[in-house]
Amino acid sequence: MKQRLPWLILCLYLSCYSAEAQHLFSNSKNFTRQDTLRGSITPERAWWDLTYYHLDIKVEPNNKFISGKNTIQYKVLKENQVLQIDLQQPLKITKATQNNKELNIKHDGNAHFITLKDQQKIGSIQSVDVFYEGHPKAAKNAPWDGGFSWKKDTNGNDFIATSCQGLGASVWWPCKDHMYDEVDSMLISVNVPKHLMDVSNGRLRSVKEFDHTKTYTWFVKNPINNYGVNVNIGDYAHFSEVYNGLKGKLDMDYYVLKDNLEKAKVHFKDAPKMMKAFEHWFGPYPFYEDGYKLVEVPYLGMEHQSSVTYGNHYKQGYLGSDLSGTGWGLKFDFLIIHESGHEWFANNITNKDIADMWIHESFTAYSESLFLDYYYGKQAASEYMIGTRRNISNDKPIIGEYHVNNEGSGDMYYKGANMLHTLRQLIEDDEKWRKILVGMNKTFYHQTVTTQQIENYLSQNSGIDLTAFFNQYLRTIQIPTLEYRIDDSVLKYRWTNIVKDFDMPIQITINNIEQWLYPNSEWKTLNNEKTISTFKVDDNFYVNTKKL
Ligand SMILES: [Zn+2]
Repeated sequence: MKQRLPWLILCLYLSCYSAEAQHLFSNSKNFTRQDTLRGSITPERAWWDLTYYHLDIKVEPNNKFISGKNTIQYKVLKENQVLQIDLQQPLKITKATQNNKELNIKHDGNAHFITLKDQQKIGSIQSVDVFYEGHPKAAKNAPWDGGFSWKKDTNGNDFIATSCQGLGASVWWPCKDHMYDEVDSMLISVNVPKHLMDVSNGRLRSVKEFDHTKTYTWFVKNPINNYGVNVNIGDYAHFSEVYNGLKGKLDMDYYVLKDNLEKAKVHFKDAPKMMKAFEHWFGPYPFYEDGYKLVEVPYLGMEHQSSVTYGNHYKQGYLGSDLSGTGWGLKFDFLIIHESGHEWFANNITNKDIADMWIHESFTAYSESLFLDYYYGKQAASEYMIGTRRNISNDKPIIGEYHVNNEGSGDMYYKGANMLHTLRQLIEDDEKWRKILVGMNKTFYHQTVTTQQIENYLSQNSGIDLTAFFNQYLRTIQIPTLEYRIDDSVLKYRWTNIVKDFDMPIQITINNIEQWLYPNSEWKTLNNEKTISTFKVDDNFYVNTKKL
């Protein structure tokens, strides 16, 4: 039971911590056929490449009911007549059409196989309309156990939002629900009661008024992942500013409940501060065309692309608490900084398979310390990062199981971040490290990637073979242990608890003089000039030490 406590804390504390909560108490899960249909690139997915979605829905708060259609446009890569669309129960696909012909649908749980009538010529652009309706799953504990949050604001107005990381966008709309294929652009039309407003991703293109309702249409010009798409409905007030960024003028728009307008105008100053720090560390904000938005929601928050959602109650830290326990975590609003950090790591660079979700969470958790670094210096950043180690549980590897929609350990947050902090020490050149992070966002701009691509990129650009380093931290729960023995002026040392070929150098201090050690699995000897009176391992390295 001991090991479970940190899990529970993690579960309560971390945002964007999603499906993991479902397997909180089981390290091994028996995967089903549904997991494979959801998590793998099935033949019925592989033959077509998403180009465009038009999601067009009506939301009825009184009945907690949604209805509408998604127009799914795609390019034919291989010949095939059957395509897989995902939509989770209890929502129902009522009809699918192509070129005005109704199509046959075979249902297999949450996967739906649509047989096309017209020939699918390689290279052609095709489109299918999928109609659906129902009472979508209500979020039990958004954003971790997501779906639709049907809430009210303090004035009794409906306050509604979607969240679906891990669970999948197919919990509320029909789509190709796999991370590997991002749609190139997307139109989102949401019909809501007239007195409310919908805020989705990208830019507001039009508002159409009807007798009792309004339809808000938003356009996303850039590739977007499924879980990034969102609907937020409320009695919103709006304010904005223009940020002079690395790629020119960036629109930053804020949508908050009317009663919170004055509070937000002060509190959201962290948003342009974030933009300045992250453009410095990671390069230009990746979605200038779509602008940046911060949107108040009735749950904690999520990294919805160009529509970052916010529910931290205008507090510093994480709902007023500091995840690092050092005090530094109260210097910023955790939700604004963390969720916005995902614009670079999750929305710009996106994992192909959620087993590699460390690419989203490790870099973003690490971005919290880089925000501190920018405004409070390197020492503050280090203290914060080291402080977050109390959230690490080392219960199972950071990388999950592939092809079954399975996330790895919640350690993808702070163990992953501390791994990156350790890597910064190995590179020992902060400007080079910054260029690596900026270059990474350029190299994988608007792409979905595998862990191998990221690991290779970091090895190549650091000039260090990091194969064993990543195997150690991402694929095992072992923490490298530096064993050492001091005998007068002689130091003996070696690594234990390591994977094959792990030979990470480490910085130590002997008699107040800093130096590097180059341990491996064999005992090595260092003959110091004088008696060794003090010995200390640099605690920026995420390792254990053991004096024999
Ligand atoms: Zn996150």
